[in-house]
Amino acid sequence: MASPKYIFVTGGVTSSLGKGIISASLGKLIQARGFSVTIQKFDPYINIDPGTLNPYEHGECYVTEDGAETDLDLGHYERFLNIETSQDNNVTTGRIYNDVITRERRGDFLGKTVQVVPHITDEIKNNFYKLGKTGQYDFIITEIGGCVGDIESLPFIEAARQARLELGSNNFISIHLTLVPYLRASGELKTKPTQHSVKQLLESGIQPDIVVCRSERHLPPDIRKKVALFCNVPVNCVIEAMDAETIYDVPVLMRKEKLDERVLSKLKLSHKKEPNIEDWKEFLGRLKNPTEEVNIGLVGKYVQLQDAYKSIVESFVHAGAENECTVKVKWIDSEEIFEENVKILFENLHGVLIAPGFGERGIEGKIIAAKYSRENRLPFFGICLGLQCAVTEFARNVLKLKKASSTEVDPKTINPVIDLMEEQKNITNMGGTMRLGAYACQLKKGTKVQLIYGQSKIKERHRHRYEFNNKYLEQFEAAGMIASGINPETGLVEIMELKNHPWYIGCQFHPELRSTVSNPHPLFVKFVKATMIFKNDSEEKRVIEKDLAV
Ligand code: GLN
Repeated sequence: MASPKYIFVTGGVTSSLGKGIISASLGKLIQARGFSVTIQKFDPYINIDPGTLNPYEHGECYVTEDGAETDLDLGHYERFLNIETSQDNNVTTGRIYNDVITRERRGDFLGKTVQVVPHITDEIKNNFYKLGKTGQYDFIITEIGGCVGDIESLPFIEAARQARLELGSNNFISIHLTLVPYLRASGELKTKPTQHSVKQLLESGIQPDIVVCRSERHLPPDIRKKVALFCNVPVNCVIEAMDAETIYDVPVLMRKEKLDERVLSKLKLSHKKEPNIEDWKEFLGRLKNPTEEVNIGLVGKYVQLQDAYKSIVESFVHAGAENECTVKVKWIDSEEIFEENVKILFENLHGVLIAPGFGERGIEGKIIAAKYSRENRLPFFGICLGLQCAVTEFARNVLKLKKASSTEVDPKTINPVIDLMEEQKNITNMGGTMRLGAYACQLKKGTKVQLIYGQSKIKERHRHRYEFNNKYLEQFEAAGMIASGINPETGLVEIMELKNHPWYIGCQFHPELRSTVSNPHPLFVKFVKATMIFKNDSEEKRVIEKDLAV
C-alpha cells in the first residue's frame, strides 16, 4: 500500500471503557486480513513517560525492546498483535512540550511566538506520522488517551482534526468509543451520554465515522438507530461492544459486529476476504475449556490494584491456555506474610511468584515466601525484585550470611548480595535512567532454563538498577544456587536457579513483557506446568524428594 491508512480512536463519557482493547482488537482483525498494523498511544499527561509514576496512579509501566517506559496499553497491543512496539508508539504531552521547548531554546523558531497551534499541534502531527513514514505499515491505529472534553487532550484532538484534512477521507477515519449505560430502575439503555460525547467531539471539528458503544446489554435496533441519527453516522457504523467474559473475546465480538469491514469500506479498501482468526479462536477454545486448575500465589505489594501486575496476569492467561489449565491467581500482600502464618497462607498454593517492585516495604514477607517455597519444593518464580529476594533468602539461610541484603533495602549491609550497578552509582535523575530494554543473555548448558527455552542465547527486557553481586557467585554455586543465565557482554547474572528443586527460578529481567497470545512465554508455560505436576504429586512423594534434596 502506498501510504498508510490512519485510524484514530477517541473515547468519551468516562475513562476505562477499554479503548486499548478495542484498538488492539481492531488491529488484530486488520492484521488477520494480511495487512501490517501498528498501534500508537498518545497520552495527555505532562510526565515525559509513565516511568516515574506510582503503579497505583497508572498501573504497570510497560517496557519495550528499545527500553521505553510506556503505558500499559502497549502491552495489549503487543500481546494481541504479536508485534514489537517502541518509544515511538507512546507519546505524552510532556514529551511533545519537551521537544518543542528544547527547539525553542536552540533558536529553531527564529523569533516567532511559540504557540499551541501551530507549534504544539505540528509536533503532535509529526509524531502521529512518524511510524507511518517508516514504510513498514499499512495501518497506523492511534489511540488518544483520556476523554474528549478534557482540557489536556484538546491539542491532540485538534491535531487529529488537522490530520484528517491533510490525509483526506480515504486515508483517515475516526472511531469514537462511548458508553450506553443501562438504567436498572427504568429498565432502559440510555443514549444521551453518547449523544453528548459525540457533540463534544464535533465541537472540536471531528465527526466520528464509527461510534462504538460499550454497554452491559445488547443494543436493540431502535437504540442503534437513535445513536445513528443523533451522531450523524449510518446505522451499520454503530457498533455494539458488550462487556466480555475476557478481553480476548473482544476481537471475535468486533468481528461479529463487522467493525473491521466498516473500517475497510470507509477507507475504500476491499473486504471481500474474511480475516483469518482461526488460531485466535483455538486459543480461546483452550482458554475456555481447561482440564485442570492450579492456584498460584502472586506475592507483591501493589495487590490492591491488579493493573500494577497486568503483564504477569496476562502471561498466566497465555500459559494457562497453552497447558489447558486455569491459573487462579491468589493475590498475597507481602506485608501480611510472617513466619507464623506462611504455612497457612500458602497451604493451597501450587506455585509462588514474587513480583517486581521497588523499595524496602514488604521485602521481609517476600523473603519468607522465597524460603517457604525453597524448603517445601513449591514451584517458585521470582521476577526482578523477586530474584533479588530469593538471592537474599539463600544468602541468609543457606550461606548463613545472616545480615545479607540488597543495598536498596539496607544501604549499609555487610553482605550486599544485591548491589547497585557501577554505572548507576552517580545517577541523580530518576526518569529513564534504569537499566532498560532488551539485553542478551547466555544460558548455561544443562540448566533448567536452557531446557525450558530450548536454546542457549536469549534476549529479554529489563527495568532495574540493582544486580546480583558477582563477588558472591562462587559461594552461591557451591551451595546449589546456579547462575544459569549470564549477560555475555557484562557478565551480569540474569537468571539463578536451584539445582535441587523441581522448579525454583529467578530472573533479573521481565519475561512477562514478551508473552503474547501466539507466543506464550516459555518460562510461564513451564512454570504453570510445574505447578500442575506439584498439584498432582502425592504428599509422600514430596516428602521423599524433600528428604533427598537436603
Ligand atoms: N528495585 C529493584 C531494582 O531496581 C527491582 C526492580 C524491579 O523489580 N523491576 O533493581
